[in-house]
Amino acid sequence: MGDFAGKKIAVATLGCKLNFAESSAIAQQFVRNGFAEVSPYSSGVDVCVVNTCTVTEHSDKKCRNIIRRIHKLNPDAIIIVTGCYATLKKAEIEAIEGVSLVLEQDRKGSVYSRCIELLDGSPCSISAAEHIFPACSYGERTRSFLKVQDGCNYFCTYCAIPYARGRSRSVPVDVLVSQAKEIAEKGVKEIVLTGVNIGDYEGGLLPVLQVLEKVDGIARYRISSIEPNLLTDQMIDWIASGTKFQPHFHIPLQSGCDSVLKRMHRKYDTAFFASKIDYIRKKMGDVFFGIDVIAGFPGETEEEFESVLSFLRGISPAFLHIFPYSRRKGTLADKMEGHLPENVKTERVKILEKLSDHLHEDYRRRFIGTSQEVLFEGRVKGGLMGGYTGNYLRVERPYVAEQIGQIVPVIF
Ligand code: SF4
Repeated sequence: MGDFAGKKIAVATLGCKLNFAESSAIAQQFVRNGFAEVSPYSSGVDVCVVNTCTVTEHSDKKCRNIIRRIHKLNPDAIIIVTGCYATLKKAEIEAIEGVSLVLEQDRKGSVYSRCIELLDGSPCSISAAEHIFPACSYGERTRSFLKVQDGCNYFCTYCAIPYARGRSRSVPVDVLVSQAKEIAEKGVKEIVLTGVNIGDYEGGLLPVLQVLEKVDGIARYRISSIEPNLLTDQMIDWIASGTKFQPHFHIPLQSGCDSVLKRMHRKYDTAFFASKIDYIRKKMGDVFFGIDVIAGFPGETEEEFESVLSFLRGISPAFLHIFPYSRRKGTLADKMEGHLPENVKTERVKILEKLSDHLHEDYRRRFIGTSQEVLFEGRVKGGLMGGYTGNYLRVERPYVAEQIGQIVPVIF
């Protein structure tokens, strides 16, 4: 194998936190072997990996534009494209000028070895590990994203992810523990557990949380997102018993209307969802709930949308992650009747955004004057540093270098 000292690697990432964790792991492989990591938009890049996303039509377009931009800046660079979009539309990406190689999602773990083959012609053994590619991000000194699971077996009617990322697989617990220890040794205080459908961890997620809890040096954990039907009462009881897991839950609702939930093939109804929120509040108090909602699912009537709004007002989360419905080829929803015009979806997104602003402001206000612990992450504009409380409220304070990466008590 050649000497790669001085060669430059760049990784461009689109999409979810899982992609960011995997990109970070890919970059680490190159750096360990002598490459220097640079921005994808700098010149003199030797290898650029583009880790794509296909969650919406807009993501596909963004990926194509990024590939073209990188090729224009670095016409001689090897460009390797991987990720969900690369899996579903391989031929489309191969046709873009400058693309050297397209590797599907399940071959993401072999990006480095395939790149070395391209660089110096020596065949590299491609590990059979493509079953699951462990990954964690080291981008920030204070917070790391640790991949615990990949793939999904749920096949919600609007979602292309099971086709792109395959069936559910789990990173073995011993690998997770050694990664968490490595993260702690770097001085990182907080880990966010990521995956496509984390709650579907083989053998149950709770034992994994209980093992990770014991890793010294990690002060805080969050779960990036968990399906409501997999967030068990037993898990909530344990988290509520004074663990490092923070009072912050990101739960995909997608619609607050039962008929729409049924058409989406979601595994719960609004009554179940509301009871889950109630149970968590009963056990843990006023926690931060971030809720995913899709606006303008096929056939969503004015009345159905009204019931979404009224359900959301009722459960009163702290934040809404809003996505306009986007047609994905090969999904059941794509073939459904009643696709809504873009302007209707945009209008519904705006209404939901307004509601989210209102809910968030309401939630924030409830904590003014309370004592909170903030993990400061770094410098922001105007001589300030920023960070998050345990319940995920953003705080900014005048910059103090020694407080970066530390958990500091503040009056909110
Ligand atoms: S649970 Fe549904 S929305 Fe989430 S990844 Fe699986 S199929 Fe997609």
